[in-house]
Amino acid sequence: MGTINALTIYKDLPKLNCKKCGMLCMPFAVELMKKTKSLEDCPPLMEPKYASNLEKLRALLKPMEDATDTGIVLNEDVCDGCGVCVIACPVNSRFSPECLSGKAPQVPVPEDIIYVLEDGRCRIKSISQCRRYVPPKTNCRICEIFCPRYAIEIKV
Ligand code: SF4
Ligand code: SF4
Ligand code: SF4
Repeated sequence: MGTINALTIYKDLPKLNCKKCGMLCMPFAVELMKKTKSLEDCPPLMEPKYASNLEKLRALLKPMEDATDTGIVLNEDVCDGCGVCVIACPVNSRFSPECLSGKAPQVPVPEDIIYVLEDGRCRIKSISQCRRYVPPKTNCRICEIFCPRYAIEIKV
């Protein structure tokens, strides 16, 4: 699976800039990426003449269905529970300094911790403080880069 960006989405929109979705086509592509709009919000795209565009866009956006609001997809079947993401994510360290020294988050686990291990697998506990989400947003990809099993993918 590759990275999805607004330009790739835009390419297959009707590009009429008719604002029937409430905005121009490019901002609409961005909203699709953020999952705040759906393909059905573009009436022209539902017309038969755009059927192949619709099909392509549905296939393109499919991986986003399982993604967090910040575009993270965690494949629990591939994860081997190594815990690298737990100690590498800067948000985990911020809310539980134990992670900075390579340990599991303190107990009870703070509410805003992102990655935790449960039953030998990684789980996303909360995404509300992810640096990709909280202003000033950054293009943080630390968890994706450091996961040795490629179990974490950031789709946007
Ligand atoms: S409704 Fe569709 S074609 Fe019209 S501006 Fe929005 S995205 Fe573009
Ligand atoms: S993108 Fe950055 S802040 Fe967000 S979960 Fe991954 S490592 Fe943590
Ligand atoms: S770094 Fe990857 S393999 Fe290791 S626990 Fe996290 S998701 Fe699983």
